[in-house]
Amino acid sequence: MPAGNQANPLLDLAGLPCFSQIRPEHVVPAVDALLTEARETVERLLEQTVPYTWDSLVQPLEELGQRLGRAWSPVGHLHSVADSEPLREAYNACLPKLTSWHTELGHNERLRRAYRAIADGPEYPRLNGAQRKVVDNALRDFHLAGVDLPPDKKARFKAVSEELSLLASRFQQHLLDATHAWTKHITDPATLDGLPESARALAWQAAEREALEGWVFTLELPSYTPVMSYAADRELRREMYEAYVTRASDQGPHAGRWDNSQLMEDILRLRHEMAGLLGFANYAEYSLARKMARGTDEVLQFLRDLARRSKPMAQKELAEVARFAREQGGLDHLEPWDVAYYSERLRQHRYDFSQEDLRPYFAVPNVLEGLFQVASRLYGVQIRERSGVELWHPQASFYEIVGEDGESRGQFYLDLYARPHKRGGAWMDECVVRMRTARGLELPVAYLTCNFTPPVGDDPSLLIHQEVTTLFHEFGHGLHHMLTRVDYPSVSGTNGVAWDAVELPSQFLENWCWEREALDLFARHYRTGTALPDELYRKMRSARNLQSGMQMVRQLEFALFDFRLHLEYEPGAGSRLQQILDEVREEVAAIRPPAFNRFAHGFSHIFAGGYAAGYYSYKWAEVLSSDAFAVFEENGVFHRESSMHFLQTFLERGGSEDAMDLFVAFRGREPRIDALLRHSGIAA
Ligand code: ZN
Repeated sequence: MPAGNQANPLLDLAGLPCFSQIRPEHVVPAVDALLTEARETVERLLEQTVPYTWDSLVQPLEELGQRLGRAWSPVGHLHSVADSEPLREAYNACLPKLTSWHTELGHNERLRRAYRAIADGPEYPRLNGAQRKVVDNALRDFHLAGVDLPPDKKARFKAVSEELSLLASRFQQHLLDATHAWTKHITDPATLDGLPESARALAWQAAEREALEGWVFTLELPSYTPVMSYAADRELRREMYEAYVTRASDQGPHAGRWDNSQLMEDILRLRHEMAGLLGFANYAEYSLARKMARGTDEVLQFLRDLARRSKPMAQKELAEVARFAREQGGLDHLEPWDVAYYSERLRQHRYDFSQEDLRPYFAVPNVLEGLFQVASRLYGVQIRERSGVELWHPQASFYEIVGEDGESRGQFYLDLYARPHKRGGAWMDECVVRMRTARGLELPVAYLTCNFTPPVGDDPSLLIHQEVTTLFHEFGHGLHHMLTRVDYPSVSGTNGVAWDAVELPSQFLENWCWEREALDLFARHYRTGTALPDELYRKMRSARNLQSGMQMVRQLEFALFDFRLHLEYEPGAGSRLQQILDEVREEVAAIRPPAFNRFAHGFSHIFAGGYAAGYYSYKWAEVLSSDAFAVFEENGVFHRESSMHFLQTFLERGGSEDAMDLFVAFRGREPRIDALLRHSGIAA
């Protein structure tokens, strides 16, 4: 492949991104140029008369993807962490261009035939496992995009796909409109009893924005959640609960105004049709084509088994809250809008412990040092800060990971603190994916982003334990990306990993935040240097599993509802949505919501996100990470042989092999749910 347009301002193939060189006005022309060049490259590759081979087709296409990724990733990253109006405009202008490029590639019939020729040709058996996986995945994705279909069905498939993306965005729009349409204006401070200062401040700001006296509450989660957990005013909780669980439906304060009912029906019908065109019996089967779970029965059995074992515990926990609410609040009947409130009071009553108590032991410099030491003891890597690398903000920093033999394995940017123009949340993203080309080896680079409270004055930023866990979680994804040994970007690191297995390395690393031996490496008082006291550690551990039965069955209710909805769709009968929901609740749930509850109308994970017939993935991945961690409970949390085995099996191999094969290679057997039940405090 020719070197191409090296003058492109977004692209420096040799080095790290030059963030200061990314000018919004250059972004659109640069992306246009890259896409034109990419289209020409694909044409040229397909024109060749020689038989298609790995080197003549797949490798150049992998390099093409790497080239686009390297150019686009820093733009997307800056848009997330240092946004400006012109950059956002440029970013949004490029998104549809990139989407249509990917769609075009995924629907390229000649390209599919070329991959087919390689898969059927004499070279295929000689390719290594990762290369074969690249070819197999490509053919699978062509198939799932409808490329194999005869012309009439293909046209229908395209129409259905387009209609589905339209319906999904309408669903989301309804939900947004309904969420924004409802507010609660309060002028009597007595109504705010129990609410923490942060929630009051937020409501006060909201009122100020509308030029109102007092406080305004909304259905956005930062406003809604504290009311449900802390507001002593029962009527306020009931009112907000009703408004929240009836959004975009035929019930509640805005009944019928943005009703998603018909959209949901249409989405389910079209998904069923789409799956049918591809030869699947239903959409649940279609969804599993890219997942680790091998069949719909396996998923159903998995969810039902977990539910059977956790429901008694959830019922016991609920009875406990009801008793506490009777004793403390004189409540005859615990309603759904009382559960979070009395659960929170029960937690304070029983453990006399707040997340705040732990902050002094989790100063950011200590936590980072501890995180790097944990990685070092597990995988023999050294992590050191590197200066002289261009960054986008003084709060950001840059690190290199070096292996035991001194070789560089990867690098990462770290950007920990919240600030204006930075998107909320925590995530790991790819900057560069590991790839071997004729020019040599390109090492992986990651972005690790969090939104912790920045340091004030001379004191370091102090984290709550949940934030420590978040950092470990994202770093787990980062290690998956950076310690990979796979040289082909589409199956390197987290790429090509089954959706229901991709959270394994991240959830796995979280476990070290709960182990005394690991905490002793870094949980020291930031002023006195004393270790985390035993009593505090014990409280933290015992509060961990408060109501884990109730949390478990709630997730299982969502997962089973989602899966059955897509599995049992029958064209004649429609979705039978309410019937399935009722049955699932009867089977799984501890709390029975009131008849007006329309939670499904706001379930955007499955109606507007990527989780359709895939919500079970959350629990699935937890089973994998718990079961993997059980090895360390048996052998010791820093048992070197086990951690090196984990490194070589999961972290280094990325998506180059089936997730189940990798799991069996690590554990010597298929996953079992026992460890998750034990870690959640639910007896097996
Ligand atoms: Zn994650």
